[in-house]
Amino acid sequence: MREILIVGGGRAGFCTAWGPQKKLRPGEEQVTVVDPRPYMTCQPFLPEVAAGSVEARHAVVSLRRHVSRTQLIAGTVTEIRDEATR
Ligand SMILES: Cc1cc2nc3c(=O)[nH]c(=O)nc-3n(C[C@H](O)[C@H](O)[C@H](O)COP(=O)(O)OP(=O)(O)OC[C@H]3O[C@@H](n4cnc5c(N)ncnc54)[C@H](O)[C@@H]3O)c2cc1C
Repeated sequence: MREILIVGGGRAGFCTAWGPQKKLRPGEEQVTVVDPRPYMTCQPFLPEVAAGSVEARHAVVSLRRHVSRTQLIAGTVTEIRDEATR
């Protein structure tokens, strides 16, 4: 099975994980997202959050709820080593 590792569950990481999971058959690929936070922040809403016109909870998207077929690891990637550099 092919394994895909996505570092960061922000806008780019979330969209990368969210798109393919709808098309993949079970067991076809294992997608893993690593991020210290369990949510994606919709940054364009942050000025409204700061102004108090939007609640902070409406500017975040739960990774676990929306990329449910993706393995989530809570943590920070500190180093990436491939086969050649081991
Ligand atoms: C006020 C504001 C308004 C904006 N308006 C627009 C707009 O109208 N249109 C538009 O296209 N863009 C807009 N943007 C820009 C847009 O939000 C960013 O371009 C986008 O969020 C970048 O996505 P990203 O995934 O690269 O980074 P982020 O969304 O910042 O995500 C990075 C993620 O990586 C994680 N991470 C970082 N380091 C590590 C590590 N070592 N290991 C694991 N995880 C890690 C972080 O926790 C974070 O979750 C706006 C931004 C702001 C602040």
